[in-house]
Amino acid sequence: MAAPKVAVVGAGVVGLSTALCIVETCPSCSVTVLSDQFSPNTTSDVAAGMLIPHTYPGTPIHVQQQWFKETFTYLFAISNSAEASEAGIHLVSGWQVFKNTPKEELPFWSDVVLGFRPMSKAELQKFPQHQFGQAFTTLKCDCPPYLLWLEKRLKATGVQICTRKVADLWELHSEYNVVVNCAGIGAQQLVGDEELFPVRGQVLKVHAPWVKNFIRDGDGLTYIYPGIHRVTLGGTREKENWSLSPDPGTTKDIFDRCCSLEPSLRGAQDIKVKVGLRPSRQSVRLEREVLSQGGVKLPVVHNYGHGAGGFSVHRGTAKEAARLVGECIAALQGSSSRAKL
Ligand code: FAD
Repeated sequence: MAAPKVAVVGAGVVGLSTALCIVETCPSCSVTVLSDQFSPNTTSDVAAGMLIPHTYPGTPIHVQQQWFKETFTYLFAISNSAEASEAGIHLVSGWQVFKNTPKEELPFWSDVVLGFRPMSKAELQKFPQHQFGQAFTTLKCDCPPYLLWLEKRLKATGVQICTRKVADLWELHSEYNVVVNCAGIGAQQLVGDEELFPVRGQVLKVHAPWVKNFIRDGDGLTYIYPGIHRVTLGGTREKENWSLSPDPGTTKDIFDRCCSLEPSLRGAQDIKVKVGLRPSRQSVRLEREVLSQGGVKLPVVHNYGHGAGGFSVHRGTAKEAARLVGECIAALQGSSSRAKL
C-alpha cells in the first residue's frame, strides 16, 4: 500500500493536535487538515485555555486522568523550552475558592497540577465571601498563539492545510484512506450526532497586567485567568443556546462578578467580548467507525465533544485518536496484502 492518506476535519485545538500526533506516530502517512474555519475564528480561539479539567460524566475517571496527565506533561515541557513564548504556554498559580466546603476536597487531577494544597487562613482573607479554597499551579495556553504554533509545526512536517467545508464524511472516500472527525460542535450536522449540544460561553478579554494569579469560583461560573497579554474574565454556561452574539447585560454581569472576587479589576481597560459554543456531550466521542456504501468502506476515527475542557485534555485525546488511526491503517494494509495473495 502507498503512503496512507489521512484527512483530519477541523482546525481547532483538537484537529490540529490530532494531525500532529498522527504525523508523529505515522511519519509515512500523508496528512491533510480540512476545515471551513481556522484561527482566529474557531471555538478554541475563544477559550481561556486553562488546564483545569472539566468532568465528563460518561467517561471513566482514570481515562480522564490519563488524558489530563498526558496533556499537562506535554505542555509543561513546552513551557520549559525556548518555544514557550511563541507557543503561548505558561505556568500560572492561583486559587479555586468555595462558599461551602466541597464534598470532594481532592479532585481527580490534584496530583497532576503542581503544589496542590488547601489554602491557608491568611490566603482566604482575600476572599471574605468564601470559606474554603485550594491553591495550585497549573498551565495556561494563550489560545490563538498556540493554534498558530500548532499550524506552523504541521506545515513544517509537510501536512497540507486546506479551507473546505465537508458536508458529509463520505465525500472524502475517493481521496483519503482514513478520515478523522474533529469538527467540534460542527459534528452535530456533519454526522447527525444528537447527543452533541452547544453550551454557550461568553467571556471578556481585558488589559489588566497587574493581575498575576488566577482566581476561580468553585462553581466554575466566575473566573479570572491571566494570560501573557490579556486576562480572561468569565463566564457563562448556557445549554442549547446557539447565539454567537455578545449580550451586553451578560458582559456587565461577568464584569461585576469578577470585580467582587478581584476588586482591582475595576481599573481594567480595553474590554473585548467573545462568545463560543462548547461542543458538549456526556463523554468525548473517541472511537473508530467504518462507513460503508455499496461494498466500499471508509474507516473513520471520531474525536469530538470535548465540552468545557478541550484544552485540558487535547493532547491525551489526540494521542488516542492517532493510535486508532494506526489501527485503521494496519487493518487496511492487512486487507490489501491478503488481496494480493
Ligand atoms: P473547535 O475549536 O470548534 O474546532 C472545530 C473545527 O472544526 C473548526 O475549525 C471548524 O471550522 C471545523 N469544522 C466544523 N464543522 C466542519 C465541517 N463540516 N467541515 C469542515 N470543517 C468543520 N477548555 C479548557 O480546557 N480550558 C478552558 O479554560 C476553556 N475555556 C473555555 C471558555 C469558553 C468561553 C469556551 C466557549 C470554551 C472553553 N473551553 C476551555 C473549551 C474549549 O474551548 C473546547 O473544548 C475546545 O475548543 C474544543 O475544540 P475543538 O477543536 O473540538 O472545536
